[in-house]
Amino acid sequence: MQLIWFRQDLRIQDHAALWHATQSGNCLALVILSPEQWQQHDDSPAKQIFYLRQLETLKSQLNQLNIPLLIKQIPLWEDVPHLMLQLCQQLSINAVHANIEIGVNELKRDAQTQKNLEKHQIPLELYHDQTIFPVGSICNKSQQPYQVFSAFKKRCYELLSISLPQCYQAVAQQEKIQLNFDLGHALINASTSMQSPAADQLQQLWPVTEDYASDVLDNFIDAKIEHYQQERDFPYLNSTSQLSPYLNIGVISIRQCLQAIFRKQSGYFHIDNVGQQTWLDELLWREFYQHILYQFPAVSRHQPFKANTQNLSWRSYEEDLIAWQQGQTGIPIVDAGMRQLLQTGWMHNRVRMITAMFLTKNLLIDWRLGEKWFMQHLIDGNLAANNGGWQWCASTGTDSVPYFRIFNPVNQSQKFDKNGDYIRTWVPELAHLDAKKIHEPYAFEHAQALHYPRPIVDLKLSRNRAIEAFKAI
Ligand code: FAD
Repeated sequence: MQLIWFRQDLRIQDHAALWHATQSGNCLALVILSPEQWQQHDDSPAKQIFYLRQLETLKSQLNQLNIPLLIKQIPLWEDVPHLMLQLCQQLSINAVHANIEIGVNELKRDAQTQKNLEKHQIPLELYHDQTIFPVGSICNKSQQPYQVFSAFKKRCYELLSISLPQCYQAVAQQEKIQLNFDLGHALINASTSMQSPAADQLQQLWPVTEDYASDVLDNFIDAKIEHYQQERDFPYLNSTSQLSPYLNIGVISIRQCLQAIFRKQSGYFHIDNVGQQTWLDELLWREFYQHILYQFPAVSRHQPFKANTQNLSWRSYEEDLIAWQQGQTGIPIVDAGMRQLLQTGWMHNRVRMITAMFLTKNLLIDWRLGEKWFMQHLIDGNLAANNGGWQWCASTGTDSVPYFRIFNPVNQSQKFDKNGDYIRTWVPELAHLDAKKIHEPYAFEHAQALHYPRPIVDLKLSRNRAIEAFKAI
């Protein structure tokens, strides 16, 4: 009997471990729920509930393939190696199959499990699945990992033009297996009772099944990708794919996204329009940060990529941090973004950059506090992308924005939310203001009666303060 261990890859289509396991014989599937570990990783309630909802779907899909799904719950991953050995011995498992995960704790968990199982001649087969290219495989001529996105991207383009990764074939139904023990399915519902207040609303905003994610991808490719380059920066337009929550827990695979881009070219790597290219580049940013996380694991231990920025004198100002977290800074575009995050578990990329830069530069608050808050609230929270995004904005990361190039959030707002539609949606107390006043209401005389905070910081002075702080290191 083969055991397929599902983790952040809850799907049955194009799944490396599932496909390989089914080639070797009859299979059982396993998911280990570890709520305390998730909490230690700051996984948001929105993301946890999303995961458990998809797990329900996976259970039914596997059922149709006659693959029983066993669910176990243990608080922390340090107990996984012992649990796995126990299970494999009880169930007479010949081999365990799983897809590689690249976080430091994930790698440690898998290495210990592998060691434990191998002592008993049970192999743990690990497959490359979450990235386009195996992590660690994209190197420059000196066999060093790339630290600059443009060079990394160029190499990826070269490799893609040679061969585009193909999706795995669908797996066939196996013979029915009779098991006479409790499969632990009640644990899904028990864990879902850990509801976030807005769980129902989140369910409506983020339906979750593989078919749904596939439809979102198809709709994006058919109707939006062509205009993606021109429209992706405007947060009031629904012009990006919004696939990040699905990619993050593996409801859809990166290969499926890649194949969809080149569907009209019959699966050949051929760029027809700038929209196609820009979206591919975004998938490669995802790729880049995953490779960085793997090659430079210090970043997942809360270390800046640029070591000297460790010495930066961040301000420790709780009141400002709370105002930022709650969307009460008095800078409308920042508050709109932070409230979108609280209400939907998601934020538009342009606004993620604006809010992150506002925290790390204008408020000069440590990027790690922002990174943590995002993880605790994002439905698509992903260690590599979140860390990469934060370190980019804070100018502490690989290939990050130069420290003196600081976004002015009001200018950004005027440029990317010209008529104020995005602000009106998330900051309703400003909805009556016209397109001129809405970006900086207190710059206008008769804004005195607004039920909206005054800016907690002067944008010009705080910009200079940030530049001085960076110069000092
Ligand atoms: P699209 O524009 O449709 O892009 C397609 C896919 O490409 C995304 O789903 C995502 O998987 C990937 N992608 C796009 N942009 C980036 C990027 N800059 N870096 C890495 N991958 C990217 N993305 C996450 O998935 N999880 C996070 O926790 C996360 N935190 C971020 C924090 C900050 C401060 C910043 C600036 C960015 C962060 N991002 C994160 C990247 C990006 O904001 C989101 O991936 C994107 O907004 C998701 O929307 P979408 O699916 O519509 O993206």
